[in-house]
Formats: sequence, C-alpha cells, structure tokens
Amino acid sequence: MTSDGPPRLIERVDLDFILYDLIGLEALTARPRFEGQDRAAYDAILDQAEAIAWAKFRNHLQKSDREEPLLEDGAVRLPPEIAEGVAAFHDAGFAAAHHDEEIGGLQLPWTVTQAAFAYFQAANIATVAYPFLTIAAANLIAAHGSADQKRRFLPPMLEGRFFGTMALSEPQAGSSLSDVRTKAVPLDDGRYAIKGSKMWTSGGDHGMAETIIHMLLARIEGAPEGVKGLSLFIVPRDRVDDAGAVGAANDVTLTGLNHKMGYRGTVNTALSFGDSDACIGELVGAPNTGLAQMFHMMNEARIGVGAGAAMLAYAGYQESLAYARERRQGRALDAKVSKTGPVPLIVHPDVRRMLIEQKVIAEGGLALALFCARLVDEKTTAPDPKQRRDSHLLLELLTPILKAWFSDAALRANDAAIQIHGGYGYTRDFLVEQLYRDNRLNPIHEGTNGVQALDLLGRKAVMEDGAALHVLGRRIVETARSAPEELKAEADALLDAWGALRAATLAIGERRDRLGPEAALAPAQAYMEAFGRITLAWIWLWQATVVENQSDAHFRAGKLAACRHTFFWELPKAFTALAQIDAQEGAFGAEPPYPDANTF
Ligand SMILES: Cc1cc2nc3c(=O)[nH]c(=O)nc-3n(C[C@H](O)[C@H](O)[C@H](O)COP(=O)(O)OP(=O)(O)OC[C@H]3O[C@@H](n4cnc5c(N)ncnc54)[C@H](O)[C@@H]3O)c2cc1C
Repeated sequence: MTSDGPPRLIERVDLDFILYDLIGLEALTARPRFEGQDRAAYDAILDQAEAIAWAKFRNHLQKSDREEPLLEDGAVRLPPEIAEGVAAFHDAGFAAAHHDEEIGGLQLPWTVTQAAFAYFQAANIATVAYPFLTIAAANLIAAHGSADQKRRFLPPMLEGRFFGTMALSEPQAGSSLSDVRTKAVPLDDGRYAIKGSKMWTSGGDHGMAETIIHMLLARIEGAPEGVKGLSLFIVPRDRVDDAGAVGAANDVTLTGLNHKMGYRGTVNTALSFGDSDACIGELVGAPNTGLAQMFHMMNEARIGVGAGAAMLAYAGYQESLAYARERRQGRALDAKVSKTGPVPLIVHPDVRRMLIEQKVIAEGGLALALFCARLVDEKTTAPDPKQRRDSHLLLELLTPILKAWFSDAALRANDAAIQIHGGYGYTRDFLVEQLYRDNRLNPIHEGTNGVQALDLLGRKAVMEDGAALHVLGRRIVETARSAPEELKAEADALLDAWGALRAATLAIGERRDRLGPEAALAPAQAYMEAFGRITLAWIWLWQATVVENQSDAHFRAGKLAACRHTFFWELPKAFTALAQIDAQEGAFGAEPPYPDANTF
C-alpha cells in the first residue's frame, strides 16, 4: 500500500515503477520504430487513459451489471453509457495506437498500450471488451489478411466504425475446436457460403457499430477432420462491398443471449450463419490454416485475460484497502489500545494478511502482464534475432501461466476483498461482490485453466527440448544473482524451487515415455500450481531488487514486504505441489493420481 485516500484504479507510482524501472520501457525509444517518442509522451497517454477510464468506464460499472443486455424486438438493448465509453476510447485513438503510422496508428510500443489498457480493465472490464475484441480482430487481419482485406476492413475497425468478434466456439465444440462443424462452401467468385451455429460469441450483436466483423472458424467442404481442416473467415454481419461500404444484411441471425453471472456489460450471443443460404465469408490466408492464424488472436487474448484478471484483483485490493482503513470494528490485541474503542479493520493482523495477499497477486500480476507486453515489443523490434527468438519463446511459456495461474489467484484475491468487507461484501451495495463475479469468467474463457495447464506441461515446457524453460531459467538465475544481500535467503529459495521444477519437468518427460501421456500429464494442474508460484516469486524478487534504488521509502517498504510475504507464504506451496508430482508413481503406480471414472 502506498497512500491513504479513496481507491485508485492503479497506483501511478507503481505503474511508473514497473514500466520505467523494472522493465525498462524507455530503452525502446532508441529503436527505429519508436523514434521521436519519449517518456513525456507515454506519460501523457497514461494520464489520458486514466481520465477516460474514470469518467467514461467506471461511471457505469454497476449500472451495466444491473441492467444486463436485453433482446427487444430482435435487437440488443444496452445501457447507453457503454456506447459512450467505447466511443471515447476510439476517439482518443487507443484502438489504433500500436499500429503503423501509415494506416493511421501512432506506432506506440505494445507495452504502452497495454499499460493504458490496464486502466480500462480496472475501471470496467466488460465495457472495454468491445474495443479489445475489435483490436484483436484487426490485429488478426493485419497479420494474415490480404492487401484488399486490410484496405477494406482495417481503417473502419481502427476508427471504431466496425467492431470485431472471435467466433470459434459452437454448442458441441468448446475446449475441443477439432469438433467445429460450421461449413464453408466455395462460390464462383472466390468467396464462401457459410452455414452453421456459433455459441458464446462475445459482442456478437448490438447497435453500436455500422457492422460487426466475425473472425470465424469453419471447415471448407471436403477439408480434413480435426483442427487441420479448420479455416479462418471474415464474416461481416452486413455485407461490405469493394469500396468498404456497408450494405444489406449478411444472413447472420442472433438466436439468443446468454445470461451471465458477471461481465454482464459484454453482450454474449448465440449466432446462426446462413439460415437462408445467403451468408458470405472471405477466406483469410490459406485454407486449413485457420487455427494457427487464430492462435495469433487467442494468444493475445490470453495475455489480455491474465492482465484483466490481475486488474480486477487490483480493483478489489484498492476497494478493500480503503474499507479496511475506514471501517472500525473490534479492539486491537494489545491491551493498552483496547481501551481506546473500536479500531480500523487494518489494525487486525488477519485483515492485513488478506490485504498483503491481494497486493502480491494484483501488483505481481500487473508486473508480469506488462513484462509479457514488453516481450511482444522485443520479439518484433529487438535488433538482435536471438533476442527476438528468446522473447518469443519466453512469451509462449509465460502466456498460459499469466492466463491460468494468475486468473485463479486473482479470483482468490477478490474473495479476500469480499471477506474484508464482512457481511457488507456479500451485498450488491459494495463493488467487491461484482468484481468477483466479473473475474469468475477469466478461468473459463480463452481456453479453460485446465486446458492451459495441459498446454504448459504438455507443450510449452517441453517444446524444442525445453528451450523456453531454458530462457526463463537464465532470467531467474540473473535475478537471483543481482538480489541484494538482505534478500539472499529469498534468492536461494528461488534457485532451489527452479531446480526442483526443472527436475520435475524431466521426471514427467521420462514418465511420459514409460507410462504414456495419461498418467504423465494428469498432474498438469499441480505443475501449473508450482510454476505459477515460482513465477510469482521471481517477479517479486525482481521488483524487490530494483526497488532498492527508489527514493520513496514507503513505496520501497511495501514492495519489500510483499516480496517477503511471497517467499514465506506463497512459494513453499510450490514445493508441496512438486513433492506430490514426485510421489505420484509411488502412490498410484502407472495410473493417473485421481480416481477412475467408475468411482463416481
Ligand atoms: C462469458 C463467455 C464468453 C465467451 N466468449 C467467447 C467468444 O467471444 N468467442 C468464442 O469463440 N468463445 C467464447 N467463449 C467460449 C469459451 O471459450 C468456452 O466456454 C471455453 O473454451 C470452454 O468450452 P465449453 O464451455 O464448451 O466447456 P467444455 O469444453 O465442455 O469444458 C468443460 C470442462 O471440462 C474440461 N475439459 C474439457 N476438455 C478437456 C480436456 N481435453 N482435458 C481436460 N479437461 C477438459 C474443461 O477444462 C472444463 O473444466 C465464451 C465463454 C463464456 C462463458
């Protein structure tokens, strides 16, 4: 904690520390792509983001939760403040900010845009989902679309006239996209007739845009089964002609809305394509390469999910910190103080436990998310090809950890924020209840956390003979070596934990060869648990080391306390998870460490 007063969206001193001291944002200004940019320009963008986030996003956080999207006469009705917020976001140029100047962008580093976006995520995660989906869809077209598709779709998307979605999931195909059934039949003019049903499409229909561009996965007639037969299509809700003008409806029908626990401001839809055999889509890239292209959007979205989860934790931390300072209840354990009447909640050690637990996740998650954003800049603009490659590998490895471990942890943080509010936290009068419900989505969408754990253990940790693990290992050793003497015990503990994780990775690989994937990959969640905690410890040791140079003693003390807490209370659970993985074969033999399906 750094200051008294009302809750902040983000403590600016913390954001500045992470951006400028920890991850060295300013160094990017020496690169040709960012020539002429400086810290003053970045600061001005962050100021603007904070101001819009407060005025146009936080202003309707509770309203758009209570007045959830409704279907009236076939049209989606949303509180008008959502459109006003999204328009303010677009008018300020945030959607185009990282794009090339030649297409109307500012060529800002991805790190700067993500830091700005963190303000919007903390203010109102559901409203900012509309521009985020549009940005991700536009990025996908920018990366894989033809010159003609870029010409017609990118400018209106970056200006906020067309919105975007990702339409992957179907009623029978969620985690398993290999079961996608939507069909694409080639037409004479090179385009495709699309037919099928999509489920869960966020932002799938509303009245805020001239049209909505669905980035849709479908199977071209005759394509192979499984994910190798999926292709990516641009399917606009309304036809878009050669000049980019919006015309007649494109036979996309809104068949229903999903009524959600949280994130309610983002309308969630069931859509039907081609009911009248008149839905036209355009292929993006080569046939049958859709999933690989879609990963471009999904990886970006996964980092966004982890960052969003951390920002909801941040918001809950800020709310409960302010409440703990204000609400008086009980007496201090110290007898002398007990005569003085009820004390603020923050006096109670157990309340401070819940505050520091939140701080560790919220600030640690923000630091990791911005580090991941920095890796995106590194992998695209670093002068040295090896640096680009290492950044790519590290990002691949950290993405499932940020998405899954941090979204689970952020939910625990929101739970603590409710607990600090006592009975009041269980009512709709206080924000923390909604923050929890909003955050509950993050372990589910963009690949469930169970699937992310399998991705981490089965793919990312072992890809290219563990190359990504190697890159992270080098970073961890570097951080441990540069830690000051007073953090030597923490540095040693981190190196021990890393050694144990590497040993577990090798042991699982060997077990996979011997026992097969079922038994070897079954403890993926335990592996994620260990890896997440080690990543958290690394990010905190790094912060505690760099903060030594900060002049603000209160801020420094807060970071050091959070680092100590992480190593004393959080990291040891990584050793427990690794010990369980180690003991698995002794206890369960060649079987997975969970009861057989017949047990239930
Ligand atoms: C509010 C919301 C918004 C969404 N927005 C979008 C969107 O914009 N676009 C879009 O395309 N989709 C969207 N989704 C869909 C989302 O990505 C899926 O819900 C998610 O991928 C899980 O699919 P499912 O719901 O079918 O669950 P299932 O796949 O049926 O999974 C159910 C459970 O089984 C587990 N499981 C499944 N398969 C495996 C396996 N192989 N190994 C281990 N465990 C497994 C899962 O981890 C999960 O716990 C959204 C979902 C929600 C709830």
